[in-house]
Amino acid sequence: VNRIVVKIGTSSLIHPNGKINFSGIDQLAFVLTDLNNLGKEIILVSSGAIGVGMNKLQLSARPASIPEQQAVAAVGQSELMHFYNQRFLAYNQQTAQVLMTRDIVEFPASRKNVINTLNQLIKMDIIPIINENDTVAVDELDHSTKFGDNDELSAIVCQLIDADLLIMLSDIDGFYSDNPNKNKQAILYSTISEITDELIDQASDAGSKFGTGGMISKLKAAERIFEAKGSMVLANGKPPRIIFDILEGKEVGTLFR
Ligand code: ADP
Repeated sequence: VNRIVVKIGTSSLIHPNGKINFSGIDQLAFVLTDLNNLGKEIILVSSGAIGVGMNKLQLSARPASIPEQQAVAAVGQSELMHFYNQRFLAYNQQTAQVLMTRDIVEFPASRKNVINTLNQLIKMDIIPIINENDTVAVDELDHSTKFGDNDELSAIVCQLIDADLLIMLSDIDGFYSDNPNKNKQAILYSTISEITDELIDQASDAGSKFGTGGMISKLKAAERIFEAKGSMVLANGKPPRIIFDILEGKEVGTLFR
């Protein structure tokens, strides 16, 4: 495994009370820098712009309208990058902000530009930090699409740059036979090699109050990863050093391959 895309969800970056989880952000910066120093090629896909924007603007509830959410995301995105820059720089690691939309894959010129930019950043030893461009695309914000929170985008990024592994960090230990927050009998899958209707059924319960994608969008991402003959690990991002365990081959989370 050499080229790794890490996707981190809002729930790993923002505490349930709405405050910023600085130890999580710091540990993520530390872990990814360490891996980069050891020769891995790292790409981070990070959600959290709205959560950070809400914190900065001291909003207690997520605004209702899409334009309001886009405005809060625009405030939060630069603040989020500020936090990442600070923490990564503490470890001497350069980062870059890459905002993109999922539909770029349909336009050969933009597709090529994104691939070139990402490959160039990696070549320059810079860790790209990708988010969906919420000003342009509302897919991530629009709950009705159910493909939110960058899950699908992170799989698209894997396809674009031929990543070996997608590490998807969520607020849950992996994929269960039912929502474990509601059903204590739910069983954790250690490996999944095909997305069946049964799995989609088991994923259909809505996600946490901060996440937008839930498990359906993670299965959609896994489907793309299967198409590209890659693999994906879904694991709990609290704490982010779980990435070390995953790369050491320890049995954590759910492996899709
Ligand atoms: P994130 O934003 O961190 O990616 P989401 O809220 O989108 O997280 O999705 C994780 C949530 O999905 C879990 O906290 C859980 O409540 C819910 N969930 C629903 N069905 C399942 C399932 N079969 N296995 C695991 N989690 C499930």
